[in-house]
Amino acid sequence: MYDLLDFRQIQLRQREYLLKISRLLASNLDLVSVLQIILHGAVDLTKGNVGLIALVESDGQLHIRASYGVPEKTLPAFQPLLELWPTRSDTEQLAPPGLEEKLQEVAAQTGLSLTQVVAVPLISDEQLLGVIYVLRGGALQFLANTNQLMASFADQAAIAVRNARLYEALVRENVQLEGIIDGIADGVMILDTKWHIMRMNRALSALTGWAPAEAVGHSCGAVLHLQSSRGHDFCADREPPVLTKKHYVEGDIIRDGYPRRSVAVMFAPLFDQQGQLLNILVDVNDITRFREAEAMQSTFISVISHELKTPVALIKGYADTLRREDVTWDAETVRESLAIIDDEADRLTHLIDDLLDASRLQAGGLQLELQRVHIPALAQRAVEGFRLQTQAHQFVLDFPSSLPDAWADEQRVHQILDNLLSNAIKYSPDGGTIRVGGWANDYEVTTYVADQGIGIPKPEQEMLFRRFYRVDSSLRRETPGAGLGLYLSQALVEAQGGHIWVHSKPGEGSTFFFTLPLAEQRSHHER
Ligand code: ADP
Repeated sequence: MYDLLDFRQIQLRQREYLLKISRLLASNLDLVSVLQIILHGAVDLTKGNVGLIALVESDGQLHIRASYGVPEKTLPAFQPLLELWPTRSDTEQLAPPGLEEKLQEVAAQTGLSLTQVVAVPLISDEQLLGVIYVLRGGALQFLANTNQLMASFADQAAIAVRNARLYEALVRENVQLEGIIDGIADGVMILDTKWHIMRMNRALSALTGWAPAEAVGHSCGAVLHLQSSRGHDFCADREPPVLTKKHYVEGDIIRDGYPRRSVAVMFAPLFDQQGQLLNILVDVNDITRFREAEAMQSTFISVISHELKTPVALIKGYADTLRREDVTWDAETVRESLAIIDDEADRLTHLIDDLLDASRLQAGGLQLELQRVHIPALAQRAVEGFRLQTQAHQFVLDFPSSLPDAWADEQRVHQILDNLLSNAIKYSPDGGTIRVGGWANDYEVTTYVADQGIGIPKPEQEMLFRRFYRVDSSLRRETPGAGLGLYLSQALVEAQGGHIWVHSKPGEGSTFFFTLPLAEQRSHHER
């Protein structure tokens, strides 16, 4: 039997244990470690031999999560104990009825001489979270205050479990939120009330060039720097601004070495239930394509109207003149006027064809008739068509005598050569030699058209192949063209399995190259 001194000592040590446990609860120790220490205290103070803590898991069943005084591998033998669930009222009698019999089963299975068991529920918010068991052997009975002791340990364990569960849920929610924010295609950042970045997603990182981890803590204006903004860019304010409702602004993000991005930014304040500002949510939507489409549309309208107007005005002018009844025209003038009308009508037809091709290409409806094409013969024919149009230029054909056939759509290749040849003439106003040649390797035929004209500045070279793109120069302004020729040529070459590129030096001339697959290789492949 314990004497009074023992009892005092127990009380003192219980306090020590509980103090230690509550400190542990405040630290970030994992749940199982905390449960282990609680269990140790409970077994120690009740003078038990073995302790177990089982928790109700997501399957609704009790599972042992911490043990004391028994080897791990014997734990399954304690299963019978978990089948009887104590309730809070059982704490008065230490264990639910029938538990003693279960203990006998366990003792038999494990070979341990265990004679008594105390089981106390872990309860939080009226909910059973688990059970703490202390078992002992020998003839001595548990002390009368054991249930009280156990209850205080059970309470601590319940707090630990509850904290851990809340924390787990929080982490899970956080991971989910993080996943959602990161998965959003728009750039997103969350700001604190001082307009400093708390979180930023990958899309915004790609737009701004700031790594999310680096951006955290910086002011919003340091990371998102809008140029030529339309509307109030709150990030640019010196003092943290006061935002009471959603606000929309558009602007550009300009970074060295990167193309300009046009963005639409929505600032949204988030308030708590008392109406206090908690955070500002900033959504950054990349609208570059939309802006480009807008710009393209207006270029389209101005280029097309200009390109259509000129020939129509000429046709109309000459037709009106010829129709005048008060003048008799000599045969030469009539012939010349009709020739101009004819040429301009051709130009219109050509432009309309190009526009139709461009829209077919965009809709993916371009049909190709692939066959063997002997490029040198085709180039010869294309060049003949231009020879009469210019005296200032000399044409030279430069193909090896036995160039293998390409696998292509002859009419489309003719169209590409026409485009390149007409550009070569248009953009070498002082004349010179225009050389058309080519070679082949094991898989493709390369054809080139080289001129000695004005050339193309390096930065423009990649843009040439865009729709409606024209290099800005005085010559360009005088030269008719819709900026469709190279766009179409590239699309046609690529549709036939080749690629097109340019080498050029301003003032020296330009050479356009394009490849087409070899007929042999292609027909071999098809067989
Ligand atoms: P267009 O000739 O109708 O303007 P293209 O798409 O054929 O349209 O060409 C786009 C632009 O590329 C032209 O406006 C011109 O500035 C430039 N370009 C094309 N070919 C040449 C060339 N051979 N030499 C110099 N500049 C060229």
